[in-house]
Amino acid sequence: MITSIRIYLLGTGGSWPTPFRGTAGVAIRLDDEAILFDCGEYTQVRLMKSTLSLMKIKKIFITHFHGDHFLGLPGLIQTMSLFGRKDPLEIYGPVGADVIVTSALSLGYYDLSFEIRVRELGNEGKLDFGEYEVSYKRSNHVIPSLSYSIKEKDNYRFDENKIMQKKIPKKLLERIRREGYIEINGEIIKIQDLSSSIRYGRKISYSGDTRKDLSLVDLFKDSTVLIHEATGESSLADKINQYGHSTGRDAAEIAKLSNVKKLILIHFSPRYNDITPIINEAREVFPETYDSQDLQEIEVPL
Ligand SMILES: [Zn+2]
Ligand SMILES: [Zn+2]
Repeated sequence: MITSIRIYLLGTGGSWPTPFRGTAGVAIRLDDEAILFDCGEYTQVRLMKSTLSLMKIKKIFITHFHGDHFLGLPGLIQTMSLFGRKDPLEIYGPVGADVIVTSALSLGYYDLSFEIRVRELGNEGKLDFGEYEVSYKRSNHVIPSLSYSIKEKDNYRFDENKIMQKKIPKKLLERIRREGYIEINGEIIKIQDLSSSIRYGRKISYSGDTRKDLSLVDLFKDSTVLIHEATGESSLADKINQYGHSTGRDAAEIAKLSNVKKLILIHFSPRYNDITPIINEAREVFPETYDSQDLQEIEVPL
């Protein structure tokens, strides 16, 4: 069971890094393990300034291969090697990930001290990592691109009476918790049949770059926190949409349809010194909208 989930907004800008905002990078720490969504320039420096050790990162999910979402990868990996990392690192991304990541990692001379496993993902699916799962779906951008969602598994509280009634041996309970059901003498017994209450798992979704697209509502549905790109304001919507991006209002409409609890906007165009107009427009549609700064950390309560 996961106790603590913490979000680290490492890079909140889009397109190119400025002195004020790095490009895309969001880490999620689940107790002692961290996963990273995107790895734009600055990501490793931001990690060093945050309270999260870059050595805790076990998995990296890249949304797409525009520079502002992955150019920090070779630097981060080479630093991990210099720090003597031994734990393997898994890197996931859309079609093309294998070739692009492999060539990014072949830059320059260095000794890779750990194993890297790259996996290309299709247009839609779900990966089970035991206590949590990561779902992904093709987003609506100008090149192959994915949106992601990480969900802690729902936690059922076993009911002693129901377990006794069904005569379930205690040693099988861990397996039932893991697999969600068990078959005994041809009868399927679901974890719900043995439980008295449920704590729904927290869910954090990350859009990457995308136009407003209703097909993503399913992926983002009921998120505790949705981190969505908001490249600019509605007066520039035509241009923003043409380049495969969303306005703050677009993001807010998706958040509302997805019934999320909280919307955090990121990936602001470097043209904005002040993002207040983007946030205000979004809040008119979805009041629980928040702006973001690099190095902001957010604890996701139970
Ligand atoms: Zn971008
Ligand atoms: Zn992009």
